[in-house]
Amino acid sequence: MKTPATSRRNFLRQLSIGAGALTLGSSLSSFDELLLADKKLGIALVGLGNYAGGQLAPALQHTQNCYLAGIVTGTPEKAKTWSAKYNIPQKNIYNYQNFDSIAQNPDIDIVYVVLPVSMHKEYTIRAAKAGKHVICEKPMALNAADCREMIDACKQANRMLSIGYRLHFEPHHIEVMRLGQQQVLGKVKQLETANGFVYGGDPNAWRLKKSLSGGGALMDMGIYAIQGSRYTLGQEPIAVKARQEKTKPDLFKEVDETIFWELEFRGNFIAHGKSSYNNNWGYLKAKTANGFFELEPAYGYGGIDGKTSSGPMNIPNVRQQALQMDDFASCVINKKPTRVPGEEGLKDMKVIDAIYRSLDSGKQEKIG
Ligand code: NAD
Repeated sequence: MKTPATSRRNFLRQLSIGAGALTLGSSLSSFDELLLADKKLGIALVGLGNYAGGQLAPALQHTQNCYLAGIVTGTPEKAKTWSAKYNIPQKNIYNYQNFDSIAQNPDIDIVYVVLPVSMHKEYTIRAAKAGKHVICEKPMALNAADCREMIDACKQANRMLSIGYRLHFEPHHIEVMRLGQQQVLGKVKQLETANGFVYGGDPNAWRLKKSLSGGGALMDMGIYAIQGSRYTLGQEPIAVKARQEKTKPDLFKEVDETIFWELEFRGNFIAHGKSSYNNNWGYLKAKTANGFFELEPAYGYGGIDGKTSSGPMNIPNVRQQALQMDDFASCVINKKPTRVPGEEGLKDMKVIDAIYRSLDSGKQEKIG
């Protein structure tokens, strides 16, 4: 926390209580909210890979409610370059061994876990135990059981937990939620969501190792398509049937390449979805009783576009990550629930677990 705002808050609180200007209770807390709003919370990024370096740190140069206060890295060289580039003091730089001592650092309010999936649970729980609020990247964990442990640990530590679901702050997606859930163009009759890219990266990367990633394109990319179906309809799916294709078994030895699924919602409604590390897909398409709406490209941060049966959406693109982190900081400051809590990550993991079960059984599997 930045000291000047904190001391100004204490000063004003003492002043107003001393002067008898405020009655205790609701007026004090709303007064607190007003005063807290001009203070930025400190975020520490854990894991300085592509997403932290390419998106989150740059976004933190544009945030109003939070700032890049610290880093956690196992690479001393990265500590040096990040410290110089973002003006991070030595006292706010941690490695994986001394990470828990972040508990004693008042500059860090929020820990943002941007590590391989298998490490999300451990670092989320350690951060919460260190008294920090947590943002954890997607997919939340290796499976739903781990998600539950993370939620429980944060509750026990009385810390807020959020998942890095940037699209909940993206105006095209907010519009899709409105169109679908409020049935603006009539009831959704058909829904298809797809997300994937042709993997051309390192064949030894953590994303292709099951123990580190939990799975392949479904965990990494399909999660957006699953979530797109859930928030277009505003409902939770009941069951799922899935099948997979593998054209590059040498590359995708341990993880899934392409998966197709049929997600059943109440009223026998089936949403179709697919994920891939071997196809450039990125869309959400809904046919409704009176027209259609769709996004394509739908899920990236390089520009989202959409149209409806009435014409182009004409919605500007935004800095998704800056809005996402600012919103969480504001929730922490004002003690309000985040729209993307751990429970939201758990809901997607329950679907993903059921898709993997369906691949094994060859049958439709219940979600839950
Ligand atoms: P990355 O491989 O570029 O970075 C991972 C970081 O973790 C590296 O700095 C690496 O040094 C560190 N690390 C620590 N221990 C490691 C280990 N045992 N093995 C491998 N790396 C280790 O990955 P990334 O693309 O930055 O992804 C990190 C997280 O962010 C993932 O959960 C991913 O799904 C998520 N992500 C989210 C988005 C989004 O749009 N929300 C986009 C990209 C990635």
